[in-house]
Amino acid sequence: MSASSPVLMLAAENNLALSLTQLLEEDGYTVAYTANGDECLNLLTSSHPDLLIVDADLQDAFSLVPRLLADYALPVLFLIHESSENIEAVFAVGADDYVAKPVHERVLRQRIRRLLNERVAVQRADDLERRWQQAFHQNHAIKLLIDSQTGAILDANRAACNFYGYTLEQFRSKYVTDLDAALDTDQEGLPPTLFNFRHRLASGEVRDVKVFSGPIDMDGRTLIYSIIHDNTKRRKAEAAEHDHRTMAEALRKMGSTLSSTLDPNEVLDRILQQIQQVVSNDCANIMLIDGGFARIVRSRGYERWSTPEDVNAIRLPLAETANLRWMIEHGLPLVIPDVRAFPGWVQVETTSWIRSYVGAPIRFGHHTIGFLNLDSKELDHFTDQDAERLLAFADQAAIAIRNARLYDRVRRQAAELEQRVQDRTVELEYERQQFRTILDAMVEGVAYTEHNDDQIKVRYINQALVNMTGYSAEEWTAHSIQLFRTDGMDEEQFRRGVDEFYRALNEKGFWQHEFKMRRKDGSEFDLNSVTTRVDAPDGKSVGAVTVLRDVSQERALQAQKTRFVAYASHELRTPITNMKTRLYLMRKQPEKISDHLLVLEDVTDRMQRLVEDLLDMSRFERGIIHLKRGVMLLQEIIHRSTSVQEPEAERKGLRFTVELPDEPLYAFVDPERVVQVITNLLTNAINYTPSGKSITLRLSKTMDKGVPHGLVEVIDTGIGIAEEHLPHIFQPFYRVVSQVEGTGLGLNIAKEIIELHQGQIGVESVLKRGSRFYFSLPLVPAPVPVDDPILPEHTSVE
Ligand code: ATP
Ligand code: MG
Repeated sequence: MSASSPVLMLAAENNLALSLTQLLEEDGYTVAYTANGDECLNLLTSSHPDLLIVDADLQDAFSLVPRLLADYALPVLFLIHESSENIEAVFAVGADDYVAKPVHERVLRQRIRRLLNERVAVQRADDLERRWQQAFHQNHAIKLLIDSQTGAILDANRAACNFYGYTLEQFRSKYVTDLDAALDTDQEGLPPTLFNFRHRLASGEVRDVKVFSGPIDMDGRTLIYSIIHDNTKRRKAEAAEHDHRTMAEALRKMGSTLSSTLDPNEVLDRILQQIQQVVSNDCANIMLIDGGFARIVRSRGYERWSTPEDVNAIRLPLAETANLRWMIEHGLPLVIPDVRAFPGWVQVETTSWIRSYVGAPIRFGHHTIGFLNLDSKELDHFTDQDAERLLAFADQAAIAIRNARLYDRVRRQAAELEQRVQDRTVELEYERQQFRTILDAMVEGVAYTEHNDDQIKVRYINQALVNMTGYSAEEWTAHSIQLFRTDGMDEEQFRRGVDEFYRALNEKGFWQHEFKMRRKDGSEFDLNSVTTRVDAPDGKSVGAVTVLRDVSQERALQAQKTRFVAYASHELRTPITNMKTRLYLMRKQPEKISDHLLVLEDVTDRMQRLVEDLLDMSRFERGIIHLKRGVMLLQEIIHRSTSVQEPEAERKGLRFTVELPDEPLYAFVDPERVVQVITNLLTNAINYTPSGKSITLRLSKTMDKGVPHGLVEVIDTGIGIAEEHLPHIFQPFYRVVSQVEGTGLGLNIAKEIIELHQGQIGVESVLKRGSRFYFSLPLVPAPVPVDDPILPEHTSVE
């Protein structure tokens, strides 16, 4: 109803209309007027009247009113000529009241006011109804009206009918609890609240809904007015968002795992751990392909059903495992809602509980290297979305495995390399040690020098050079080749020597030189040095190795040899000349032949001795000396030796003493050779002891390392031997003095003989005081006594 003046519509004939319009407008009404019944409908829709006043005398008035009222609800006041017939007729067509003609102003005003008031009341009720209709029915919100006592659904709006799929009638036969679907909070992403419900629709589908309810009072009854909000979409969106976030988080964690560790097992374990966050499963595993089989390398969750050993023992032949083969062929994940219905599912006892499965291939490019598998004990547990997610993880696993394999390869290579370096270092160190040992064990002196700007720096010298020169390694490093400079050499000469050294090295690569060097103690010795240039791989000379040999002995021996040759030839020529002379004289003086023969005998003896010595020496050198050994009484051997030498000593005016033990001492020896040794020692003693002095030959028993030995000593009080000669006198041709005749072979032969008998020979001597030569031979038990002890019982030839 409008707030302005009420609108009256007047359908009446002209005269009546004119007077009434004036009257009503004076009363403050707005009047819409027509005298044509057909125009009524138009006027009605354009003027929205609050009251329709119809003149019954207007043409078709009785048929007009029902038509108007069919579309418009408004009070109708008829103007009639009062008769029971007319009254009945107007009420029959829907009149609310009438005013009799001729119209009485006061009556008309009264009737209009009453009808308008009623109209206001009705309109208020209508308005409420309309608002209710609008609020309840004509609204997109889903609404239900429920009896608070019984829970019966009293009303449902169109949106509710659409949403639930029930007609209003169906609703009215239901209770609100009929709509509830069990709320499985376990599987909900969102926590259940006071408003959260799950309602089952007519189709059976379950939707998440939020229900907001409040009491309303209606005709004295308390009803529940419920607004239902379909939460599914939002829930779905939220769940999707949640899933998305979980997936992103899981992938992010995987990413950080990939970059934080390269231990393949750890990475794969974390993949299995992360996947649990986004795809629920009972067990998960990663299989790798190895020689036509898929083998579980990491797993999670199987502890409930089997032992780790059983799980690890699972080896599935690819050719016979349909699900794995399918994934290899298609490169796609695979969902199996019911493994028992899947042809080719490999059933093993360990995994017989599995009902549904999802797997994704782990691929490098187009090459499948393994699988990511999830198992569930429930049928139809996995969705296509799960499969897609699994594939994302499988791709990550592929990267992880590839990284880990690469890393592993790199690590193994590094370890191998390290090991090789270590081995090589040990080898080098060993070689270096060996090299040093060899160098230090060498008799020759070795020096390694480096040349820099005409400076020669000593980098290494061996022990032999220290021994040879008396200068320590430090002194060599400090003074370098200046140490080679001998007293007689001035700076200029030394410089020239060094220049020559460099030139030779540069031109020939080596330099050989013999020179005298002064030891630290001042003594001089002869040195032979051979220096060889050491080149770096690029051909540049970096240093030189010099081998130094003390050739003093060699030189002395060489001199001895020269002397020996001279002596031997002289010795041979003299007797030969002598022999020739004697032969000549024998022809001339046949009467003196016996004198000449004596001399000839002596001469041939000497020649024979010389030749024997030379032969012996050469035999020893060639190692072909033969011993005729037997168990011999040493006392007897001594006796045989002295029988010749004793008169000789006496002839020279020497006191000669022989000391023998009472106990018979036996040795397994070649008696001739031992006599030869003693004879030589005695001859030397006689030769190198001036007359008037004494010589002693002693035999005694001694113990050497617990073994009894016979010790033979030849002690003289003669000229003695200087200390520096002692180490050399057993060398062939080595002679200390040349005044006495001899070849310098005697001691050398003696040493060879004694050593062949497993004995030892030695000397102690003090210059001008005398010498003590000795040798020892291992003793053997006495043989079974025989008549002639000197004849060997058992003779053997070596
Ligand atoms: P031969 O070959 O004729 O024996 P030789 O006596 O000179 O000659 P060795 O018996 O080998 O040779 O002796 C070597 C050198 O040792 C001798 O030349 C001598 O200088 C020294 N010598 C050996 N025995 C003695 C000694 N008892 N007293 C001093 N010097 C000795
Ligand atoms: Mg001698």
